[in-house]
Amino acid sequence: MKRAFKYRFYPTDAQAVELSRTFGCVRKVYNLALAARTEAWGRQERVSYGQTSAMLTVWKKTEEFAYLNDVSSVPLQQALRHLQVAFSNFFGKRAGYPRFKSRKRSRRSAEYTASAFRFRDGCLTLAKMDQPLDIVWSRPLPEGASPSTVTVSQDPAGRWHVSILVQDPTLAPLPTVDTAVGIDVGLDHLLTLSTGEKITNPRHERRDRARLAKAQRRLARKAKGEGANRAKDRRKVAKVHARIADRRRDHLHKLTTRLVREHQTIVIEDLSVRNMVRNHSLARAISDAAWSEFRGMLEYKAAWYGREVIAVDRFFPSSKLCSTCGTVRSEMLLHVRVWTCDGCGATHDRDVNAAHNVLAVGLTVSVCGAGVRPQRSTPGGQSASKQKPPRREP
Ligand SMILES: [Zn+2]
Repeated sequence: MKRAFKYRFYPTDAQAVELSRTFGCVRKVYNLALAARTEAWGRQERVSYGQTSAMLTVWKKTEEFAYLNDVSSVPLQQALRHLQVAFSNFFGKRAGYPRFKSRKRSRRSAEYTASAFRFRDGCLTLAKMDQPLDIVWSRPLPEGASPSTVTVSQDPAGRWHVSILVQDPTLAPLPTVDTAVGIDVGLDHLLTLSTGEKITNPRHERRDRARLAKAQRRLARKAKGEGANRAKDRRKVAKVHARIADRRRDHLHKLTTRLVREHQTIVIEDLSVRNMVRNHSLARAISDAAWSEFRGMLEYKAAWYGREVIAVDRFFPSSKLCSTCGTVRSEMLLHVRVWTCDGCGATHDRDVNAAHNVLAVGLTVSVCGAGVRPQRSTPGGQSASKQKPPRREP
């Protein structure tokens, strides 16, 4: 199994310049290829990865884009591959139409495959660089690890990170357990489990958000083009953002590890792009980024440990359906937290009941084997999807 290890590093001035230039070229190539594919899409034609790769060769020969030759060609090729993935997700209806990368808002990153870096004696040196990166090895790479991909990035707070993908021999399936859990994305709570457990947002999130709002107000008050001070305020906002994201990621890591350890099967709702747009209250309860991060972590950890993640369609009446007897209520107002079923008289906590229904639907899908496919890598239908099948008792 492959696993990514992320570390902070401190570039020399020359490395920072080289990387910033590379990020710029990566963004440029991505946008040029997206423009070409969009134009073709208007003519109802599809452009393949291979065709965009040929375009890159042509662009590099023009005077206008000759500067693309100054950086390593590998991250540029990888940008085209990422665009290809974005298009397969779009064609597979798992994502919206790919968007242009903006200088200000997009993630600044570059991906290097094995031909574009050297890893020797614990030193990582990227193409076009003389010196290895000054990495803070906060935890060791697995013994004898040989990295296959290295991704360098800089976050909006200005911090540099390198993510190193290696084969990790310590990852092995956990002993099979016979528990399954359904997860509902709630309004009051971050998540509600069918076990009755409610998971809240990280403890500091509320205070951090207040701090963020304050920093944003200060930034907004300042007139545009005020120079150094405004840049300082913008950096301050980015720092608060980064702290919120770090804490949330930490929280999600602990949560997903626990869920995967404790349960053989985990059923979640498939909050695809279209569904999110239609349900604003959901979008508010758990931000788009947090949800996809949560789901991504669940899926790769399930793959590591031999567990199963099933995503079920959001369009079934999970909150109106009695999980005990199957009676469907005609109406369910948002403020109703606890309700009693007219059919069987059972009293339900709204979110726990919904989590039970999510679980029940997921297990039906699991038994029927309907729509079995990994979530992100292949196109397919929308009703249900399933992560790699676990080892199962016969
Ligand atoms: Zn009932």
